[in-house]
Amino acid sequence: MSGGKFFDKTGLMRCPVCGTAFSRSGNALRCENGHTFDVSRKGYVHFAPNASPSRYDEALFASRRRILEAGFFDAVIDAVRAAMPADAGVVLDAGCGDGTFTKALARETTFGLDLSKDAILLAARGGGPILWTVGDLTKLPLADASVDVILNLFSPAHYAEFARVLKPDGRLLKLVPQEGYLREIRALMEDRLRRGIYSNEPVVSHLSERFTLLDRRRMTFTYPLSAEQAEDFLRMTPLTFGADAGELDASKLTEITIDVELLIAQK
Ligand SMILES: [Zn+2]
Repeated sequence: MSGGKFFDKTGLMRCPVCGTAFSRSGNALRCENGHTFDVSRKGYVHFAPNASPSRYDEALFASRRRILEAGFFDAVIDAVRAAMPADAGVVLDAGCGDGTFTKALARETTFGLDLSKDAILLAARGGGPILWTVGDLTKLPLADASVDVILNLFSPAHYAEFARVLKPDGRLLKLVPQEGYLREIRALMEDRLRRGIYSNEPVVSHLSERFTLLDRRRMTFTYPLSAEQAEDFLRMTPLTFGADAGELDASKLTEITIDVELLIAQK
């Protein structure tokens, strides 16, 4: 069914265990050394059988989806889209979560990869051409120089792997939160936050070891919130801050700031 889309793309892929090429074996991808990965009828491949279970629940993803659908990130998504070369045919969204951004930015051939099986199951719902994979950023199931654009949106990076799978003139587009990002929630949480103030400089210096930074674009927006949206943003805080919002008073959250930087880089 929707899993068949993988068998047309084996040339772009490689075994994440040993790096050899895939070919079709029944309803699975099989490498030259016999590592075999079933293509699920739900339209994804699970490349990381030892992945730890996700700590994110359905309610959290539902909140996140409502926030994205309400348009809080539309301007940011538009900026990422504008930075994608027009002729980019192969896209990898590395750390794609539930795939909402992936779907908004998809091109002819688009891989979405995340270590969370729950996230990929949500992403794959409803079918479609995107090649969803449960996988590890440090062992991408993609061939060398196979990808035109890597999207790395609010997600950890592995620059050696990114450099390997990108074509020589490929682009890396990375979105990172800035110091004002969701500052209204940070103010509510005060000293309960485990993470400090965001600084991009460690991110940029790490990226610059393997990539050349072509451009960086800061985007800052503050939006009013409805009561329901305030609850949704608070429910999302484990994704954002690694801490539980607990019994925070959502009625105190009347607006929200989106403050991010888009880093545009090349090998
Ligand atoms: Zn293998």
